[in-house]
Amino acid sequence: MSSLLESEAVQSLLSRLAATPCSEAIDDWPADRLQALNAAGVMKWNLPGQFGGLELDDVTMLDGYRVLSSACLVTTFILTQRNAACQRIVTSQNSDARESLLPELADGRLFATVGISHLTTSGQHLATPAVRAEPSEDGFRLSGVVPWATGAAYADVLVTGGQLTDGRQLLAAIPTDRDGLHVNEPVKLMALSSSQTGSVQLTNVEVRPEEILHGPVPAVMRQATGGGAGSLGTSTLAVGAADGMLRHLRTEMNRRPDLSEFVEPLSKSSAELVDQIHRAALSDHWEGPSPAEVVRRQANSLVLRTAQVWLAATKGAGYVAGHAAERAVRESMFFLVWSCPQPVLSANLRELTCVSHSADC
Ligand SMILES: Cc1cc2nc3c(=O)[nH]c(=O)nc-3n(C[C@H](O)[C@H](O)[C@H](O)COP(=O)(O)OP(=O)(O)OC[C@H]3O[C@@H](n4cnc5c(N)ncnc54)[C@H](O)[C@@H]3O)c2cc1C
Repeated sequence: MSSLLESEAVQSLLSRLAATPCSEAIDDWPADRLQALNAAGVMKWNLPGQFGGLELDDVTMLDGYRVLSSACLVTTFILTQRNAACQRIVTSQNSDARESLLPELADGRLFATVGISHLTTSGQHLATPAVRAEPSEDGFRLSGVVPWATGAAYADVLVTGGQLTDGRQLLAAIPTDRDGLHVNEPVKLMALSSSQTGSVQLTNVEVRPEEILHGPVPAVMRQATGGGAGSLGTSTLAVGAADGMLRHLRTEMNRRPDLSEFVEPLSKSSAELVDQIHRAALSDHWEGPSPAEVVRRQANSLVLRTAQVWLAATKGAGYVAGHAAERAVRESMFFLVWSCPQPVLSANLRELTCVSHSADC
């Protein structure tokens, strides 16, 4: 693992995040935990050096997500949504947007989030776009509902997009205090409620030229805008969450050696997946299904199985509301619905229903 992740700053951050479970309350945004990430330099990890970032290589970045999510899934999940917004700004050709936003994002003065699932995974069966874009005098206007945005009430900037009548789409970085942008109340979730996730209503929201990050082009999310649904980052979060559970399971195993029959294979799968994630991050060419999709299917499977093994190992005590194992089971389900492309979901469903002809079944 990179020396940065082994540094005292990161190690003490991890200890702090793991020391107490993050609140699950919908009105308890983990501001102090995000502040701790900022103090440890984590907000700089994914940003270019010229804007004050640390520009970590892909493998270190993924390892960083994994160790963070093994300590606190909620905080790390919020970080990924902020980083997804940053990536769309970093990869933009719009130098005004890059220069005005990235330095303040790097030093934590600005917080951003992303609401782009309506262009990738949400509502793909619907005939009309969730957010319509129409040309205005010198930019565009967006109207509609962004179905999901994490922490939008705390964000200064929302990276989101819309579709024109000719089918082309655009992504923009819009200040959340812009007229017509209304962050709806967050929804109570099965888990991760303190991430304050919910929808955002856009009513004739003006998008200025300096705020347009990508497009208008057909299928803007298929351009190289910075990761996408089911990226390796999402898988590494699942593996990290499983690692966090395995830490607890190993503590239990110290008192109950019979558990090693179950804990050891899961630990081995986790280590193998880390290796696969590293290889996928370094590979440019492949044949057959995308390595990111293959890895995500396995990562989903690992986190779901590990949570259930932990619950079963802790028996009725683990089933009592408030026990860490029951929370882990709820949190593991998140990976079936978050940023999960259809081929990954179908593969997971086949595994769950055992209709696959593969050796996994
Ligand atoms: C906790 C959480 C946080 C999230 N945070 C963010 C975020 O910060 N930013 C972001 O961009 N996204 C975010 N997402 C969105 C996420 O990545 C997925 O896009 C989302 O979970 C997909 O679910 P959906 O209900 O929107 O899917 P949809 O496909 O819209 O499904 C909704 C409903 O439509 C019906 N339906 C689905 N498919 C069909 C079909 N083919 N035919 C007929 N009916 C159908 C079903 O009844 C289904 O329940 C978040 C999601 C969660 C759960």
